[in-house]
Formats: sequence, C-alpha cells, structure tokens
Amino acid sequence: MGQLQKDILRRHGLAAAGVLLFSVLYYLGYKVEYGHGAPIYLYLITVVFYIGYLVCVFVISTGRVRDFSDPSLTLPIMAWVILYMSVMMYFAPALRMVMLLGFLNIMPFGVFRLSGRGFIGITLYSLACYALVIFFTHHRGSAELIPEFEAVTGVALMISLLVYASIGREFSVLRKAYGEKNSELRRALARIEELAVTDELTGLNNRRYLLKTLEKQRALAIRQDIPFVVAFVDIDFFKDVNDEYGHRIGDQVLAELAHLLRVSVREVDLAARYGGEEFVLLLSGLNLEAAEGVLERIRVSVESQLFSEAEIKQAVSIGVAQYHPDEPAEEVLNRADRMLYEAKRGGRNRVHVEERGMISEVD
Ligand code: GH3
Ligand code: MG
Ligand code: MG
Repeated sequence: MGQLQKDILRRHGLAAAGVLLFSVLYYLGYKVEYGHGAPIYLYLITVVFYIGYLVCVFVISTGRVRDFSDPSLTLPIMAWVILYMSVMMYFAPALRMVMLLGFLNIMPFGVFRLSGRGFIGITLYSLACYALVIFFTHHRGSAELIPEFEAVTGVALMISLLVYASIGREFSVLRKAYGEKNSELRRALARIEELAVTDELTGLNNRRYLLKTLEKQRALAIRQDIPFVVAFVDIDFFKDVNDEYGHRIGDQVLAELAHLLRVSVREVDLAARYGGEEFVLLLSGLNLEAAEGVLERIRVSVESQLFSEAEIKQAVSIGVAQYHPDEPAEEVLNRADRMLYEAKRGGRNRVHVEERGMISEVD
C-alpha cells in the first residue's frame, strides 16, 4: 500500500471515530430527552452506516480507485455521513443541534480533496438534507417546530457551511498551485538528469553514462553470464579535418559519425561519446567473433560515407576487447584502448580485436 493510501485511510479512520463520538452523544442525548434508550432501529441505522463506510474504506485499500480524480472517495463519504446524520436527526428532532454540529465537523475533511465546486455542492447538499428533515418532521407532526427558529438555524447553518466552503476553496487553489509546481520540478529534474548523461554536440550518451552502463553490464556478466564487448572507435587524422575545413565542419562530421554509430548498433547496445573524436560501443551478449563482424561492417560504412556539407571521406580505427568476469569494469576499457593503439599502429582504418588467448590467460 502506498503512502498516499495510508494517509487516506488514516484520515478516514479519524473521520469514522468522530462520527462514532457524535453517535454516542446522540444515544445519550436520546435517553435524557425521551426518558428511555433509543429504539433498536436507530442502532441498526448506525450499523448500516458503518457497513457502508467500511465498504468505501475497503475499496480505497484495494487501490481500485487510485486513478480516480478523487482516490479518497471524499465526496461520496461526506455525503454518506451527512445522510446518516440527517436520518438520525429525523428520528430525534430534539437532537437536531447535536447532528448539525456533526455536519460542520465533516466539512474540514473536504480540504484534502474537494475543489471549490465540490464544496459548493456539499454545502447545497447539506442544506437540502436539513430542509428535508425539517419538512418531514413538520409533516409527521411529531415535534413542535417554530418556523422562525428553524429558519434562523437554517441560515446559521448556511453561513457556517459557506465559511467552510470558501476556506476549502482557498485550500484547493493552494493545493492545485502546489501540485503544478511539483510536476514542473519533476519535469525539470528529469531534464537535468537527461542533460547530465547526454553529450550536447552529438546527442549520444556521455562518458559518465557509459561508466554507469559498464557497471550494469558487469553485474549482468557476473550474475547472468551475459558476455559483452567494448569497442573504442577513434576517427583517423581528425585533426586534419579541423585544420583544413575549420571547427564547424569538424563538429558536423562528429555529429554525423555519431549518428551512424548509433543507428548501427542494436537497442540493447550503447554508443557513447568518450571524449573528443573518440567513441565507445558497448555490445551486449556478443563474443569477440560476432562483435568483430559488426564492427567491421561499421568501419566499412564509415569509409563509404561522405560526411558534412564539405563531403569529406573519413575512416575510423577500432580497438576491441571482451569483458572478463571478475575484472574491474575500467580494465576492459583499458584493454580496448590498447587494441585501438594497435589498430593505429597497424596502419589505421581497421578493426583490431584482442587475441582470444588474452581472455583465457586470465582464466
Ligand atoms: P589519429 O588518427 O592518431 O587519431 O589522429 P587524430 O588527428 O584524429 O588524433 P588527435 O588526437 O591528434 O586529434 C584529435 C583531434 O580532435 C584534435 C581536436 O582538435 C579534435 N577534436 C576533439 N574534440 C573536438 C570537437 O568537439 N569538435 C571538433 N571540431 N574537433 C574536436
Ligand atoms: Mg583520432
Ligand atoms: Mg583520439
């Protein structure tokens, strides 16, 4: 059960206890006023009321109404309590004041949930219930009602309810503003989190994200025996591009090449900008042999594409290493970097894969 549901149920427990106190007062008042205990049907009405209340609380606790605009069922429960008190009022007109105070005590519970309109609704509903009670009591002729006095009481009730309604409305405005601010902050936080792991120029994930993902992959490799391969991709003679065409074109090349890398790997893989003109690919669930095929294809696509508005040919050197369980994550990065160095030394525009033996040596 979520914290929200717990809060809702605690509030309803409080309200139910409050109503119970009023019921007890009512039964005591009944004995004082009429000289004998309340008849059995009045106790039955209270039992029926509480059964209804428990049904509502049960529905709330199952979480079935969590997505409702009113997940605490505040309005129906308030209406149910007022109906109960009105019926009790009808059966003991002398105890009208006790139950009217009960009406007023219900209103503050609305501040947690009701909108301004909800408050107006519940105010009108309360007044209608009270008017009906007076009407039927009068009709039954069982009690002496003084019309002027009932009218004054009714107006007093109306004023009190309106005061509650306007305070409740203020609360609902505050609640709404607070809720909006809250979701604004949540959106801003999500954006900040995204920016913190994204490289601005290329839109790829950055080194920070790569290192985090590497740790996750490491956990998968250890616990679930899922292998993964790390490839360092470095653009050949990139400095010349900047020197010859300028930084702006250099940036374009970087962005386009980053895009090529991203669309060349699967969803489960990661293409990240490690820094400068160096990228790292994290290929999940592959061994060196399979990875070599993928990376060779990438090398060929780079070679055969023209980059930027200056239509420049580019080439990449790629160093490849496979993660070996039990080694620290950065170790596989270091090895891939050494393989990259070998690829450069071997003449560039090539994929250099570590020897399978290097893995079994560690074994
Ligand atoms: P090698 O084949 O040995 O990798 O040669 P290289 O010229 O690619 O390597 P070097 O490390 O000497 O140069 C990398 C260049 O990448 C230097 C730097 O100006 C450029 N560079 C790094 N980051 C950026 C960037 O964000 N934008 C641009 N336009 N250039 C960048
Ligand atoms: Mg380079
Ligand atoms: Mg470099």
